[in-house]
Amino acid sequence: MQISLSPRPTPLNQYPVYWAECYGRAPFLPVSRAEMDALGWDSCDVILVTGDAYVDHPSFGMAIIGRLLEAQGFRVGIISQPNWNSAASFKSLGEPNLFFGVTAGNMDSMINRYTADRKIRSDDAYSPDDIGGKRPDRCSIVYAQRCREAYKDTPIVIGGIEASLRRIAHYDYWQDKVRRSILADAKADLLIYGNGERAIVEVAHRLSLGHGIEDVNDVRGTAFFIKDLPADWQVMDSTNVDKPGRIEQPINPYDTVEPVCDSGEDSGGETEKSDTKNSVKVTFADKNERVQYKLGQRLKTVIRLPSFNDVDRDPVLYAHASRVLHLETNPGNARALVQNQGGQKIWINPPPIPLSTEEMDFVFDLEYARVPHPVYGGARIPAYEMIRFSVNIMRGCFGGCTFCSITEHEGRIIQNRSEDSIIREIEEIRDKVPGFTGVISDLGGPTANMYRIACKSTKIEVPVGDHRASIPVSVKTSILITLLSYPYTVEHENSKV
Ligand code: SF4
Repeated sequence: MQISLSPRPTPLNQYPVYWAECYGRAPFLPVSRAEMDALGWDSCDVILVTGDAYVDHPSFGMAIIGRLLEAQGFRVGIISQPNWNSAASFKSLGEPNLFFGVTAGNMDSMINRYTADRKIRSDDAYSPDDIGGKRPDRCSIVYAQRCREAYKDTPIVIGGIEASLRRIAHYDYWQDKVRRSILADAKADLLIYGNGERAIVEVAHRLSLGHGIEDVNDVRGTAFFIKDLPADWQVMDSTNVDKPGRIEQPINPYDTVEPVCDSGEDSGGETEKSDTKNSVKVTFADKNERVQYKLGQRLKTVIRLPSFNDVDRDPVLYAHASRVLHLETNPGNARALVQNQGGQKIWINPPPIPLSTEEMDFVFDLEYARVPHPVYGGARIPAYEMIRFSVNIMRGCFGGCTFCSITEHEGRIIQNRSEDSIIREIEEIRDKVPGFTGVISDLGGPTANMYRIACKSTKIEVPVGDHRASIPVSVKTSILITLLSYPYTVEHENSKV
């Protein structure tokens, strides 16, 4: 098997448009055969299956992906909140020519379905009239299996936050156990994680050119199972990236501890002994090594994480694997990851290159109806009510809070829209959204306002493995990080990195 990652992605608006563009834009992406007939379609190229109600608004994943694929020329249908008890609903639009795209929706389905006390919810903000129970538990898995049942040879691609955050062996709060990658249970062909635009567009074009889904293994932001490691890749053990340590009891924040003054008199010998044992020798690489490094050694290095069995039995290794996943999130220099799961290995390509401002504008300037599909009549969809006068101006967060999953999903690099694009969206809201009174409820993103905040030096942002590199830094820190950005050798006890 050969895997060759391209460091330079094709801009989203520069792909040759698919021939089906001649059918024109759909007022809403069709959810029924009757709508397909009205559009003159005999089939869909891509069918998106989602656990949310279909709202044609850029705050909803299925609308962004659907409209983006439509802009590439593909005919896209939506199957929203299907009856999952049989495959019949998954056949309602016929067999897609290219693939099924399956997502749980804007949230993990277990959060939609249960409270933190593991009690079943009666409501669902992403469903018409806020009624719960319109999606199954772990709906990415269930939907993907039903798609397979409906058309066994059609490629299935899973994505969205549920698939994204469950791409490697992960702790599942609801079952209180470590589960394998969701891809194993869904039996899908490919998993897209993080911001999915680049990957889904690339996959759709590749499949439209006649490539098999099994050959699509070099797209950033994707994960899939492999049997054997590619021979031309260098495998690095994850302990070279992060050293698994012992578990320390969390500090009680209410404890008052007397500060201990280190006079150096009592512990001199002991400290010296311990320093020697843990001493770290840093040697900077010579020029040739640096050149080799810059030529893309990292692009052919895969980090082997502890296996599923190991992280399942040992919390220290679980924490270690999780930390390595976080450390390898800088798209400029992240390496591929591989994890043994039973008889097969999940291969995770590095994260997608963040969208440029022009590409963000391209995505948000697509023509959305900005309202729920008419099939819902006057039903109230609370998640839509919340965002209908709100404008998303950025993505990503460099906060890196330990309890938050945004880094694993959207990454640390902030992706911004231009001011013109934001103004255009506000004008669209003025012209299209019923009930607009002239007040925009918020301009924001997934986190606090980080609009246009970025590292001043792109050199620093790209080559440094340390996640803190994407945080704006002072000049002093910049100098330090620049030094660290060169390849170096660390000798720690008996290990050499
Ligand atoms: S989104 Fe908020 S909670 Fe999450 S990492 Fe950013 S600042 Fe922290």
